[in-house]
Amino acid sequence: MISNLKGTFSNISNNIKRSAIREILKLTQNPEIISFAGGLPAPESFPVDNLEEIVSTMLHEEGPASLQYDATEGVIELRELLLKRYQDEGVDCSLDNLIITTASQQGLDLVGKIFINSGDTVICGLPSYLGGIGAFTSYGAKMEGIPMDEEGMSAIALEEKLEELKKIGKKPKFIYIIPDFQNPTGITMPESRRLEIIALAHKYDVLIVEDSPYREIRFEGKSQRMMYELDNDNHVITLGTFSKIFAPGFRIGWVLAPAEINDKIVIAKQSADLCTPTFVQKIAARYMTSGHFEPNLQRTIEMYHKRRDAMLEQFDLLMPEGVSWTRPEGGLFLFITLPENVDAQELFYKAVENKVAFVTGNVFYCDGSGKNTLRINFSYVNEEKSVIGVQRLAAIIKEEILS
Ligand code: PMP
Repeated sequence: MISNLKGTFSNISNNIKRSAIREILKLTQNPEIISFAGGLPAPESFPVDNLEEIVSTMLHEEGPASLQYDATEGVIELRELLLKRYQDEGVDCSLDNLIITTASQQGLDLVGKIFINSGDTVICGLPSYLGGIGAFTSYGAKMEGIPMDEEGMSAIALEEKLEELKKIGKKPKFIYIIPDFQNPTGITMPESRRLEIIALAHKYDVLIVEDSPYREIRFEGKSQRMMYELDNDNHVITLGTFSKIFAPGFRIGWVLAPAEINDKIVIAKQSADLCTPTFVQKIAARYMTSGHFEPNLQRTIEMYHKRRDAMLEQFDLLMPEGVSWTRPEGGLFLFITLPENVDAQELFYKAVENKVAFVTGNVFYCDGSGKNTLRINFSYVNEEKSVIGVQRLAAIIKEEILS
């Protein structure tokens, strides 16, 4: 080994923190543990049989072409299909605005790569998706967290922060927002709040990164228009993904953004992976036109709806006084707030001993707060197991509150 390996690593590699969630997930591998920890889609939602048929037909019809490199922007038939879905919704966009990425985590990384110089400020919600914070801080971003209320990021607190930064001559590179069924809280931003935040982005001349993997997993209520659609001045970059509406193992996502920004992302992607695997892009395009995509998505939504209901019913029955939780209209997560004096980290170890797991909420707070919060996933565990899991969880929360 070379003499100073530590000193040889780059600043970027030293900025990268090990994902707290991945570490937690390692502790929850025991099959006896009922885990509400990961953000995993239900394996029952994956269209295995349909894919078997599609892959075999594709290899038969396209042969080697399905195994070749393709454009960095993505396979054209897939881009056109995704574009059409947005256009059918009324979104004004063209092919230049949509490129494929290796799922949205790569989108987050490439956005970080093209915008962030070390020391730049990026704004996010308190709390916010850990993988987003991790991607941006790896490029040296200084994250500024904005408190949230039941409608998402507070526009008042955001304006105060933008004003405070302006006074010291700083302009954030972008505002990172997960407007639909946010990870980790499950909160959805209504259109009025989206418009307020877009108006602030215009006023302070800052970009918005709209990260929306859960948007289509809606159980009830009215779908909200995307910030990309509501903005009329090229201030929004939207990240989408197949991970929660099809299969995370495909690692396919996309960026919907002004053409000039996409051009830079494509150049950055060229040096990251040349192109997202052609094989899976072509399968995904065939799947989208097979007639199975929409019905399977509807079945998945119904399944998660039932799982959310079963969980909320148990929460209402069993959670002790002083505990509150969000009631998301869709997505994969809800968020629990415990009394101030309860430490979710201590609770976590007791939970694992009692064979139930969650993710401590503090990992999503870029300022280290949120010690009395937990994120709960309701998509992975079926209703029967979830009832037992919530019973175990409620019992240890009660014990912890009383101790
Ligand atoms: N953004 C958010 C808000 C997420 O919750 C996730 C993962 N669940 C991702 C991005 C990354 O997802 P993927 O790379 O699988 O598209």
